[in-house]
Amino acid sequence: MVPTMEATASPGAGMVCGCLALSAADIERCAARGAGDAERVAADCGASTHCGACAQAVIRLVGDPGGVRVRATVDRVGDDALRIVLRPADGGEFDASCRPGQHAVLAVRGPFGWIARPYTVTSPAEDRSQRELIVRIRPGGRMGAALLALASAPDAAEIRLGRPQGRAFGRLTAKRPVAFLCGGVGLTPALAALRAGASLRPILVHASFRTAEPVLEPLLRECCGERGAALVVHHEDRDGLPTTASLGEVIASLPRVDWFVCGPDGYRDVAFAALRQAGIPARRIHEERFVAAAEAAGPAPARQRTVAEARWAKLAVALSVAWLVSVALPRPDAWLTLASEDVFRWVTGWALFVVLAVQWLFPIARGRGRYDRAMRLELWHRASGSVAPAILLLHQRSFGHGLLLALGVALVANTVLGAFDKTAVRDGVRRERWLRLWLPAHVVLSCTVTGLALWHLWMVVRYQGALV
Ligand SMILES: Cc1cc2nc3c(=O)[nH]c(=O)nc-3n(C[C@H](O)[C@H](O)[C@H](O)COP(=O)(O)OP(=O)(O)OC[C@H]3O[C@@H](n4cnc5c(N)ncnc54)[C@H](O)[C@@H]3O)c2cc1C
Repeated sequence: MVPTMEATASPGAGMVCGCLALSAADIERCAARGAGDAERVAADCGASTHCGACAQAVIRLVGDPGGVRVRATVDRVGDDALRIVLRPADGGEFDASCRPGQHAVLAVRGPFGWIARPYTVTSPAEDRSQRELIVRIRPGGRMGAALLALASAPDAAEIRLGRPQGRAFGRLTAKRPVAFLCGGVGLTPALAALRAGASLRPILVHASFRTAEPVLEPLLRECCGERGAALVVHHEDRDGLPTTASLGEVIASLPRVDWFVCGPDGYRDVAFAALRQAGIPARRIHEERFVAAAEAAGPAPARQRTVAEARWAKLAVALSVAWLVSVALPRPDAWLTLASEDVFRWVTGWALFVVLAVQWLFPIARGRGRYDRAMRLELWHRASGSVAPAILLLHQRSFGHGLLLALGVALVANTVLGAFDKTAVRDGVRRERWLRLWLPAHVVLSCTVTGLALWHLWMVVRYQGALV
């Protein structure tokens, strides 16, 4: 294992990948299964594939970034940006294909070991001969410093580029046109979309820069011109900071498009407020977040709750309250008659069992180390958990007592707990603390619910003699 500057700092006791709640032990288990480098660990367990911020921390644990050895051409484009063109060092082509909007982990080996950060690939996805990245230099930034050193001595360091990953444009299709709101270096997904051929239909790019960008702006203009997309450039030194009113005007002019937002936190907040004020539904708002790389001693960064996750969480709480109200208040006779019908009870009872069974797919995938599969199942886990109180409400005739009372209360308590999972906590330190309490409680309640439900089923079979 190569000693790195960051390896000398004590690793955080908690998670490494905050998005998938993977600890150092999980990553090491993946590596021990044969995933020898960070790229294979990512493919095996999903760490760093969600928001990309833990790429450095995974390399710190595994020692080798993996990826293809590349040669870099680094050009300064403006005061604080670099345009980097990477080609395979063996003169061939990249074998991994790239989808528009994906990012790749760039790793540079300096005197203190590997520095690795994710960057959006801005070159056309189908071009395998080279990959272009546009990087903003941050004050005191470690990758920024390493790349500036490369600009003057391109062969002085070993450079690797990982396989493209991520799903920034996962829910965008060519069916609906896309408009981009980008701040600063957040223009990179817009460039990727403009160069994406027919797979996307960008019709407007609204780009906000602090000052005039002598290279990036003409580049953006050229790409917009080629795709027939409009370009609106906002210079903060000339036009002031973007406001909800100024962005609102742009948004109002295009009522039937998907909106894609990418930029620093302040810009993002204004853009989201403007989109909400304009009444754009959440399903038509998409974003890519450039989460900062993990610090060795700090809490693991993690993606924030997505719009869909927030919506399922709200539904879970609303249905739990509805269940409470429905069992606490007397129900109309017609309802009680229907709820006593054998067919109705059979359908709702089995529906509840199916939901409970689906709930176990996610933890089973995680338990078996299939973190990538678990990632795909996570939203299903949330969605099916959210609707469980509604099915219980239909199945249950009253609050009940004994076993039925315990089953109902445990199921609804678990649903509410699920709605307030780690993604509800923004602060990294608090999120880790909350997860340590939340996870055992969620596991205990889930096992209790499943145990009581199976017991209930057994009682039905035993005393009523059949399941149908
Ligand atoms: C999926 C993804 C795609 C990305 N694509 C691009 C891209 O196309 N172009 C690009 O320039 N960057 C992109 N980034 C950000 C990039 O990965 C690095 O975070 C950035 O280049 C800074 O690295 P550094 O080593 O120079 O700074 P560091 O040494 O990591 O940090 C230096 C200082 O800058 C702050 N900082 C670092 N990154 C951020 C950030 N993203 N937001 C706010 N503060 C930050 C740190 O807190 C610290 O104070 C992307 C990030 C992700 C997760």
